[in-house]
Amino acid sequence: MSDPLPSSATKGVSPSVGKAPLVRQPYPKANIVTYAQLVTKLEFYLNAEEIKKVKEAFEFADSMHDGQFRKSGEPYISHPLAVAKQCAEWRLDSQAIMAALLHDVIEDQHVSMRELATKFGMSVAEMVDGLSKLEKLQFKNHADAQGENFRKILLAMAKDVRVILIKLADRLHNMQTLDVMATPKQKRIARETMDVYVPIAHRLGMNILYRKMQDLSFYYLHPYRYDVLKRVISATRKDRQEAMENVLQKVKRQLLSQGIEATIYNREKTLYGIYRKMRRKHLAFSQILDTHGFSIVVKSPQECYTVLGILHSLYKPIPGKFQDYIAIPKLNNYQSLHTALVDPHGEPIEFQIRTNEMHQVAEVGLVAKWAYAKTGHVSVQANTNWLQSLLDIQQQAEDSAEFLEDLKGDLFADSVYVFTPQSEIVALPREATALDFAYKMNSDMGNHTVSVRINNANSPLQTVLRNGDIVDVETSPTAHPNPQWLSFVRTGKARSSIRSYLRSINTAESIELGKTLLRQALAVFSRDMSMMSPAVIQALLNEVGEESMDDIYFDIGVGKRQSTLVARMLVRHHKIEGSETQDSESPIQEAQPLIIYGSEGFDVQRATCCSPIPGDTILGELTASGLIVHNGECKIAKRLMDKEPDRWINLAWGEKLNRTFDCRLNIIVREEKGILARVASEISESNCNVLHVDMERQDEFNLFRFTVEVYDRNHLANLMRRVRHVPGVSKIAREIH
Ligand code: MN
Repeated sequence: MSDPLPSSATKGVSPSVGKAPLVRQPYPKANIVTYAQLVTKLEFYLNAEEIKKVKEAFEFADSMHDGQFRKSGEPYISHPLAVAKQCAEWRLDSQAIMAALLHDVIEDQHVSMRELATKFGMSVAEMVDGLSKLEKLQFKNHADAQGENFRKILLAMAKDVRVILIKLADRLHNMQTLDVMATPKQKRIARETMDVYVPIAHRLGMNILYRKMQDLSFYYLHPYRYDVLKRVISATRKDRQEAMENVLQKVKRQLLSQGIEATIYNREKTLYGIYRKMRRKHLAFSQILDTHGFSIVVKSPQECYTVLGILHSLYKPIPGKFQDYIAIPKLNNYQSLHTALVDPHGEPIEFQIRTNEMHQVAEVGLVAKWAYAKTGHVSVQANTNWLQSLLDIQQQAEDSAEFLEDLKGDLFADSVYVFTPQSEIVALPREATALDFAYKMNSDMGNHTVSVRINNANSPLQTVLRNGDIVDVETSPTAHPNPQWLSFVRTGKARSSIRSYLRSINTAESIELGKTLLRQALAVFSRDMSMMSPAVIQALLNEVGEESMDDIYFDIGVGKRQSTLVARMLVRHHKIEGSETQDSESPIQEAQPLIIYGSEGFDVQRATCCSPIPGDTILGELTASGLIVHNGECKIAKRLMDKEPDRWINLAWGEKLNRTFDCRLNIIVREEKGILARVASEISESNCNVLHVDMERQDEFNLFRFTVEVYDRNHLANLMRRVRHVPGVSKIAREIH
């Protein structure tokens, strides 16, 4: 939805509202950070040696940016300093602080990564390099999917979680100093922040940062709405101020008299939170209950319960509002007691009661968890592996649906994100090649690809793409697919397009399949082609109007003709020739089943309704697009078979297939913390790949739909046995329609 209001409300009256001219309040300015202020922060947790290194990095950055100014007129170094200070507030280690100070020197001052590595070590240089690469990512189009993909590419490229944290600090400071930019740029940056960085902060549980960024983005995206809402809200809050103040004083006195030291914070909904609720539910502001509340922070969990008792003795609790997240933490490790009371005016007031440590986790999320780890600060040791940190995020996710999204997107990282020359993001399966990219754009482009440029360098078509690559495909009308391409493309789309092209020029494969299928169909009548005389074959050709048997085989192979019908015709001509008149039909023998190896190619496909795997009894349906292999228990197959029995043939699995097949499992679990992780780890311990997961809530149960890869029925049975024993799993079944 576009903003119907003027892009800069400072210009005056909105035509749609027509109230008095509005002078928009500038966003409160961020203070300029000095090096001395940064050091004060660092002294809390870094030693003298580390601070000395930070100083070297500062001096280098300072000299590099010397004479460079920000658009606001301030010396450029004020920006890296502000970023470093934010990182210091999160207690990032000295390397990360150095990288924050140096984060723009590669990009702006053309310092080489090697020079940084020599001066400050590889780890710092790599972080700066990562940050420079992220800087080059440009978010152009606003579409939900685009935002989502952009976020993923960012996470995937960062590798080291410290890079993400520095990037978030960088973005926060850029948002705080956005005022000097031209309006279109403000909007673009604010949009990008809202769509990409705000969700990342949220995932990391960094509540304070999340609120700050969201508020700033809202301010620049919808200046007028922001302003109006802010006024209305502060007016309502003023109305309640006195009542709230009375409650606060009374609570404070009571706590003090019981000898409890507490810090009490006012808890307010964000402007954006209120705005979103109004939009989503189509409510006017007056219909939104802007609930007031306090967070009470005390020393120990025991004190939390004492405070709860005190509150409930002061005011009447609202039934059903008490929640104990201390005994049972939320999935994201959030802990607090929640309750709501009725104040003397009959209005609800919400309370959260927690310890200081719980408060930290609630406010700064993941970072707090590391800060409380042994080292006392976020270091590379605390997080040697980005994957591990994603596992941490899984703990932070608000509910299992969100956790699932993380799993899909990151943990089973199966995608790579690249760009078109126009900066559109394209998602491909991991290991996809440049040629897959061309086919993903469209089959026509793929079929006519002559060369590709990756990041402006000519590259082979089979080059495996990496996150962030910019791929430019050159086509020519005379170019066409080459069978060799099949050996390296990874996507189904590329493969099927190449095959269908090859099929159009090379029919050998189809003819072979047609022969096999006809042999199979003839076997039903205890015959084979060697019994057919040239006269019989000619009679058949005359009847169907084809030139040669190869034409007929081809038609059968590509599904244009049914092998059983052709077989019947042949049998009929054969009988006429041999004057076999005694029985109208010879006794039907059990045909030898056609053997399936699962690697036949495009003419033989496994039915997606029942995904048969080796060990299953299987049946084949001849269709216009080839032979479809169904599970013998598939209900869809049974229904189709009743309608057109002629299309169906017996199949059997070959031996020693030595490859995996996908298969769907439905797992019903009770809602329990970490259950998905336990199920997923059982699956991977059974040597199975997970291709896809999906979740559906059903009352107090969750239904997980897994698509896994298994070798055969034994493998699957073993997997199901293991999962069935996971506590919390109440049912597991294979999905066959
Ligand atoms: Mn920057």
